[in-house]
Amino acid sequence: MVRYIIITGGVISGLGKGITTASIGKILKLHGYKVTAMKIDPYMNCDAGTLRPTEHGEVWVTEDGGEIDQDLGHYERFLDVDIPKHHNITTGQVYGAVIDKERKGKYLGKTVQPIPHVTDEIKRRIRIPAQESKFDFVLVEIGGTVGDYENVLFLEAVRQMKLEGEKVLYVHVTYVPVLETLGEAKTKPTQHSVKTLRGIGIQPDFIITRTEKPLDSVRREKIALFCNVHEEDVISDSNIENVYAVPLLFEKQLLCKKILKKLNLRKDQNKLKTWKKFIANVKKAEKEIKIGIVGKYFDIGSFKLSDSYISVIEAVKHAAWNNNLKPNIKWIDSKLFEKEPEKLTTLNEVDGIIVPGGFGLSGIQGKIETIRYAREHDLPYLGLCLGMQLAVVEYAQNVCNLKGAQSTEVDKNTPHPVIDFIPEQVNIIQESRYGATMRLGSYPANLKNGSLIHKLYGENKVTERHRHRYEVNPEYVKILEENGLVFSGISPNGVLMEFMELPKHSYFVATQAHPEFKSRPLKPAPLFEGLIKATKKRRQPAKPIPAIQI
Ligand code: GLN
Repeated sequence: MVRYIIITGGVISGLGKGITTASIGKILKLHGYKVTAMKIDPYMNCDAGTLRPTEHGEVWVTEDGGEIDQDLGHYERFLDVDIPKHHNITTGQVYGAVIDKERKGKYLGKTVQPIPHVTDEIKRRIRIPAQESKFDFVLVEIGGTVGDYENVLFLEAVRQMKLEGEKVLYVHVTYVPVLETLGEAKTKPTQHSVKTLRGIGIQPDFIITRTEKPLDSVRREKIALFCNVHEEDVISDSNIENVYAVPLLFEKQLLCKKILKKLNLRKDQNKLKTWKKFIANVKKAEKEIKIGIVGKYFDIGSFKLSDSYISVIEAVKHAAWNNNLKPNIKWIDSKLFEKEPEKLTTLNEVDGIIVPGGFGLSGIQGKIETIRYAREHDLPYLGLCLGMQLAVVEYAQNVCNLKGAQSTEVDKNTPHPVIDFIPEQVNIIQESRYGATMRLGSYPANLKNGSLIHKLYGENKVTERHRHRYEVNPEYVKILEENGLVFSGISPNGVLMEFMELPKHSYFVATQAHPEFKSRPLKPAPLFEGLIKATKKRRQPAKPIPAIQI
């Protein structure tokens, strides 16, 4: 029988519930259990594909082409499993399904209501992974904060599951702030949040407190008493430098043992050794490697968020750690180079450059200039999706002498559309069908024997995940190749250019895919690994980098 662990959040959003969920899953896995995780997003969108990255963070892409909340990325990275798109449930999906059934007469004669019809649909979706009977545990993270209007029906649904006889544990993640003026950690917000949760009919089994410093015994006692839990079930989740160490923080507080005890489970293997070693090695890495990420989704109001590129950041970390290096990521706003091209020389102060995925027009010229600089100065370069498209544009403009060459995403009337829509995208756009219609999910590519990319992957055929509408225009492949650019990975039908490289450069590699989605802490993505190894060779004496400001 599958056990469910439901994770809810209290007090504020952005507590790192995703990391907490992934970490609980990880310790269960390290104790010998088969675990998967689901994310409930209470927004009306059917998926995350149409959300703005600065508002909601990165759009995570699954093997089966789902455009999902970034928390699924944490689950995959921590649990080292592929998580399919139906492990993400949104209000839009649930209401869409209920309304569709109503129109088809599936509820004939009934008044269709939030309870039971919407909650039944939620439970049906939560129970799908359990039917695959592969898992001992299904973790379900409910997005948002207890007390929000929009997640009430999800909370009601998971409340009913226990009543219906399922084995369910509830974990509530809260924030315990320290007021600077008082210098004291305050438990009142947690008390109120749990009160609200209990008002909905859910008594948490565990309370995980996000705190700056480890929770002391006085606050622990108070939370236990006021929130009706045992003291030992109040878990401290204090700030930590490396998020991959959170499972070990929980392990120290015997969280796994406590979960197993509550569920009367006995099997308990200890497979923590490799993970502990990995964390210890990360701590040991002292030599720094500076990687510049040239993006644009940084600003929200007066704050700068790196969540929009979380998988790229994690992939850099995995590859750096695997080479015993300490990653130091520099944010480079490409618009800076449009205003002040002389600042391009500051790029010399990083060891390698990544131009990640992106949409729209802003910052494009600055990115093209960055790529040109990397190409002309033998600066290791990795282009991801848009980063490959712009590398092709730059090469067409400056090496092939195709004046005005551009992607049609940037200039519809370019005389040389080196990057263009594939035919099926034309109708999609004309009919404004924007949701879930890009080239999405895992696609194969055959790699060219003897190429650098072939060497890095060590395989003839690889699959990577995609999310884009535009492609290299097949009509320009010949001229680009005649001028020295090598398309080293091509779709099996020979039409789509999936990987490229410049053989004369120490490392100039790009892909139409997003290999960052398959990078795992102990299994770095080959192209990131290649970038780090190349930068290791080219390393220059470290100089300060203050010149680059975003
Ligand atoms: N905007 C480009 C396209 O749609 C690139 C997308 C991306 O970088 N993911 O093809």
